[in-house]
Amino acid sequence: MSKIFRLRQRVLAFLALLLLPLLCMQLGQAEAARRSAVHELNYFRSMETEVDGEQVLRLEIGLNRDNLDYTVIEKQRLRRQLVLDLQETKPGRVKKNIKLNNEFVSAVKVQEPERRHTQILIDLTDKYIEGAYKVYTVEADRKERKPYRLVVDIYKKPVGAAGSVDGVKGHSIVIDPGHGGSDSGAVGPSGLTEKAVTLAVSQQLRDILEASGAHVKMTRDTDKDVYGWDATASQELQARVNVGERMPGAEIFISVHINAFSNPNAHGMETYYYGGSSGGKRLASLINQELQEAGGLFNRGVKTANFYVIKHSSMPATLLELAFITNPREERLLADPDYQQKLAQAIARGVARYFGRG
Ligand SMILES: [Zn+2]
Repeated sequence: MSKIFRLRQRVLAFLALLLLPLLCMQLGQAEAARRSAVHELNYFRSMETEVDGEQVLRLEIGLNRDNLDYTVIEKQRLRRQLVLDLQETKPGRVKKNIKLNNEFVSAVKVQEPERRHTQILIDLTDKYIEGAYKVYTVEADRKERKPYRLVVDIYKKPVGAAGSVDGVKGHSIVIDPGHGGSDSGAVGPSGLTEKAVTLAVSQQLRDILEASGAHVKMTRDTDKDVYGWDATASQELQARVNVGERMPGAEIFISVHINAFSNPNAHGMETYYYGGSSGGKRLASLINQELQEAGGLFNRGVKTANFYVIKHSSMPATLLELAFITNPREERLLADPDYQQKLAQAIARGVARYFGRG
C-alpha cells in the first residue's frame, strides 16, 4: 500500500468520525420531531368488504400524519366496546357520534378525555363475537386520495379460530400439503390447482390443531417445493418424509391430496394407509368416517397403497384424497373456503379420536 493512499484513508476515516455524530444528531432530531408531532383525525369511512373470503365491516380512520401510537382495549363487561386509544392525537373535524346500522357495530364515538389524547369508542352489539377484530395501519394512498389510516376490521367469526377439538393437547402432528411450487398437482376444469387446495385445508387444519394445544409441523406452509424445483420426484417426497422424521416426538403424518381422473364423472373421497401399519389403518379409518360425515361426498373407502410418504414414514401415516378436482361439482366445493374449513375440522376430529382411542 502506498504512503499517500494510506494517508488519504486516514483523513477519510477522521472525517467520517467527525461527521457521524452530527448526522446521528440530525436523524435523531427528525425522528423525535416526527414522534412528538400531534396527529389529527381528518377522515372516517365505514364499509362492508371481503377479506380472504370472509365478510368484514371495515372502519377507516384517517390521520394527517403517519407513525401513530395507539392501543386497543376490548371491553366486554357493562358495555361491549372496542376502545382505540390514540396518544398525541386531536379529534379534528370528524363527526363525534356516528350511528352505524350494522349487525356488530351500532355506533362509533370520538372523544378527547384530555388534551392531545383521543379515544375512539366502537359500540358493539350483542352479536359481536369476542376477539373477532383486527386493527392495523395503512399508508396514505395518493391515487385513491386517502390519507394514512388506522383500520379496524370486524369479523363475523373469531379471527384465526376455526374451532378446536378435545384430546390432541400435547401431541405432535406432521401435516404434508401435497405438491406445491413448481408442481401444481392436478388441475380442475376451471383452473383450480391441487397444490392451492391442499395448502388451504392444511393451514386450517394446523390452526385448529394448534388452537387445541397440539404441536404441528408442516412440510410446507407456502406455495413452494420442499426439496427444490430441480428435485426428482423421490427427492421431493423424501424431503417431506424428512420433515416428519426430524420433528421431535412426531406421532402421526397426514398427507393431504386431491384426486384426479380423465373421466370428469369420477367423484368421491378416499383415505390411504401403508399396508401392515395398524396405526396408519386406524388413523385413515377415523379420518375417513369424519370426512364422510362432514364433506358429504361418496365414500370410496379406506385403502392401502405404497405411496412414498406413507411407506417411508416411520410413524402411523395416512394420505387423504379429499375429492376429485377433475369433477366440476367437487371442484366448486373445493374452491369454497367454508367447505375447506369443514374438511379441516373433520380431519381434526379424526385426529382427536385417534389420540383419544375413540
Ligand atoms: Zn396429489
